[in-house]
Amino acid sequence: MLFGLGRIRGGVHPDGHKADSARFEINSHLPLPDTLWLPLCQHSGEDAKALVQVGERVLKGQRIAAAAGRFSANIHAPTSGTVTAIDTITMPHPSGLPAKAIILQPDGQEEWIALTPPPDPFAMPQEELATLVEQAGIVGMGGAIFPAAIKLRQGRRFEIKTLIVNGSECEPYLTTDDRLMRERAVEIVEGARLVRYIIEAYRTIIAIEDNKPQAIAALQEAAANVGAIEIVVVPARYPMGSAKQLIQAVTGLEVPAGKRSNDIGVLVHNVATVYAIQQALIYGKPLISRITTVAGGCVGEPRNVEALLGTPIRHLFEHCGGLIATPARLLMGGPMMGQVLPTTDVPLIKGSSGVLALTRAEVNEHMPSPCIRCGRCVDACPMGLLPLEMARSSKQDDFDSAQDAGLRDCILCGSCAYVCPSHIPLVQYFEYAKGELAESRAGQQKLTYTQDLMAARKERLEAEAAAKEAAKQAKKAKNKVKKPRKTAEPAADTAEPASTTDNAGA
Ligand code: SF4
Ligand code: SF4
Repeated sequence: MLFGLGRIRGGVHPDGHKADSARFEINSHLPLPDTLWLPLCQHSGEDAKALVQVGERVLKGQRIAAAAGRFSANIHAPTSGTVTAIDTITMPHPSGLPAKAIILQPDGQEEWIALTPPPDPFAMPQEELATLVEQAGIVGMGGAIFPAAIKLRQGRRFEIKTLIVNGSECEPYLTTDDRLMRERAVEIVEGARLVRYIIEAYRTIIAIEDNKPQAIAALQEAAANVGAIEIVVVPARYPMGSAKQLIQAVTGLEVPAGKRSNDIGVLVHNVATVYAIQQALIYGKPLISRITTVAGGCVGEPRNVEALLGTPIRHLFEHCGGLIATPARLLMGGPMMGQVLPTTDVPLIKGSSGVLALTRAEVNEHMPSPCIRCGRCVDACPMGLLPLEMARSSKQDDFDSAQDAGLRDCILCGSCAYVCPSHIPLVQYFEYAKGELAESRAGQQKLTYTQDLMAARKERLEAEAAAKEAAKQAKKAKNKVKKPRKTAEPAADTAEPASTTDNAGA
């Protein structure tokens, strides 16, 4: 389907709450925390494998955990110091479940490993650049936490016509991308050129919502003399930052249900990811820090900080004016799609675009009441789904019907729940149903895998038995041929050699 340029289907206009944190420059000078907690899983795949021992001293930028599989990512020491433990910590996730992490005590020296940036990345083979991005441990920093190198390689496998650098940042409160674009526009433009070179895109667009005029101006200026990089302004409307919606708004094209953006020749990378790629390919720097928004009505001085990965969230609050009221809700990410945090004793990770401490008034909690079938959720859904039907089926554990109503295409953006006058926690139902389906799929995959293994074993054993039997038969046949025939006059056989010997001796 073709949409009018600049438009998306559905969507909502939540209060932005962006001004408080957007007005200050990024603070890149936070004091070092006493401890850094570095979870082995800060990406979409398997836990990375720790490469260090307790008691070992590590240097800033040193690889301390290795990617374990395609969707996993390397982890590097954010500063120099000593590994004091490899233990479980509480993850920044609503479950508060423990996860394994490398615990690092900074020594205050900030002693870097020797960095080895490539001399001229634009003269290197693209695959080698994707490998450097992989080695730097870069994941999608807009929330996807999917290793960035996979997307770069996909870009080379598919014919990518358009690269979209996503600077829309539509979640309320979050201003990390806004400040990054205002303050590091030249680096972002260079990063966009690098990604364009790697994936061989024909067209490169940096898309920004119209509520970020300073970021638009900074990027226009940075791109002015570079050529072939378009700055496209899109209307501020949630969830404009979602890849499929941004593609609709920028190109007018819709990614069909069940397909990915690269199927229609478009690749979307977040601005923070593009910046991290530029830092890796120009300066040889691995991903060891990120810019994050610290905001919400409970925060004394909301702003953006550039903090080391592994920094405890409480340390961020302490250095942003402290918590001036008891938060009604702590969030990692924005209020629409963020994760509720169980405590401030969790670390900043690669995907943390913001940490929010919200007051009761900001949380706006209501008791849910029955659905009045007003249809507002249907109008708000940017994916054209039937949220009320999906929620009803999910509630009844009827996951097939929920899928029929579009669950698979739901991006969990929360627009439906935002407009629901009955305050039904629609997204919670969808998360539950998706979780159950994923578990059942994983169980089915495991079963199929086990069945395949058993079938292969049976086949192997049968083949071995058949080979054994064939060898036995062959040996039997051979013996039959070799075995001397029993005759009626055995004495005649032995008599012959004797006469031969006699002749030889003559
Ligand atoms: S918006 Fe809420 S009340 Fe209205 S139809 Fe959807 S679920 Fe029901
Ligand atoms: S959460 Fe899912 S169903 Fe609700 S509006 Fe977003 S995409 Fe549609």
